[in-house]
Amino acid sequence: MSSPEISKAAKMLQQGEVVVIPTETVYGLAANIYDATAVRSIFELKGRPSNNPLIVHIKSFEVLSEVAKNIPDTALKLASHFWPGPLTLVLEKQDTILDVITAGGNTVAVRMPNHPIALNLLQETGFPLAAPSANPSNYISPTSAENVRKAFGERAPFILDGGPCQKGIESTVVGFKSDGVYLYRHGAITKEALEAALDGVEIKTITHESASPASPGMLLKHYSPRAKLIHTADVKQHLLNVQGKQVGVLSFNTHYTHPAIAHQLILSPSGNLEEAAQGLFNALYELDSKGLDIILAEVFPEEGLGLAINDRLGRAAAE
Ligand code: AMP
Ligand code: MG
Repeated sequence: MSSPEISKAAKMLQQGEVVVIPTETVYGLAANIYDATAVRSIFELKGRPSNNPLIVHIKSFEVLSEVAKNIPDTALKLASHFWPGPLTLVLEKQDTILDVITAGGNTVAVRMPNHPIALNLLQETGFPLAAPSANPSNYISPTSAENVRKAFGERAPFILDGGPCQKGIESTVVGFKSDGVYLYRHGAITKEALEAALDGVEIKTITHESASPASPGMLLKHYSPRAKLIHTADVKQHLLNVQGKQVGVLSFNTHYTHPAIAHQLILSPSGNLEEAAQGLFNALYELDSKGLDIILAEVFPEEGLGLAINDRLGRAAAE
């Protein structure tokens, strides 16, 4: 990536435009956190409900106190362990943080992305960036510039192309309450890794049903392809009931044989969950471009990154 392109993006952001940026998780649709009009245009472009707050991306630890205050020690410990990286901390917001970012709440979600282009851009703009995933609301998160173009078509803003995202799945979102540390969203950092970094402190999980108002954007339906997606532990059984349909299969490391299967993608033949997470959204884009009626997606092992993968596939399947 040439720095003239980063400078061009920085200039556009300074002028109140939105720009698509690469991060290690997924591509983001970014705007200046201090420009309410620019942030509002993120919501318009995505068709995102205004009650779903945005993550603020910062370039360094020094900037953390510019956006958040009364930061708990456990949060500082997690930040120093995982930043820059795919961990988002929900913290008490500074007064300067706009309501449009926090959905009117008094907390702000913050992370430091681990991507040289994103960090160079943040350095050049001088202000933090609010950035949700660069896809229309409820559609599949993009992990390449090409997928952003597929998702937005003609409406795609300027894209800084940083190649395929290294993690391929969104950040883990963690919140802090008087009674402990809570996992709001499974993501690229596992619960086990968080607990290990906190010397075994237990992290509680907030379910979708109980998420509101703690994490208002945790809508159940999300990440959905146009084809009907079925998330199942028994792909073989479903294959018996798909006569006359164009079927796609998305699996961890199993190869299925059946005449109804028009397309099949195996995310990690060697059974590696990191590799599977990295390729997950790209595989959904690919399957969704084949004009299928149904995508049968396996339930992944309920451990480590398998939890984040199953969370995304479960929501992709939600009606
Ligand atoms: P996305 O931008 O699509 O990656 O989604 C951001 C995630 O962070 C959503 O699940 C939001 O609910 C969550 N989030 C953002 N800000 C907050 C906040 N202030 N409190 C709780 N959760 C938040
Ligand atoms: Mg998103």
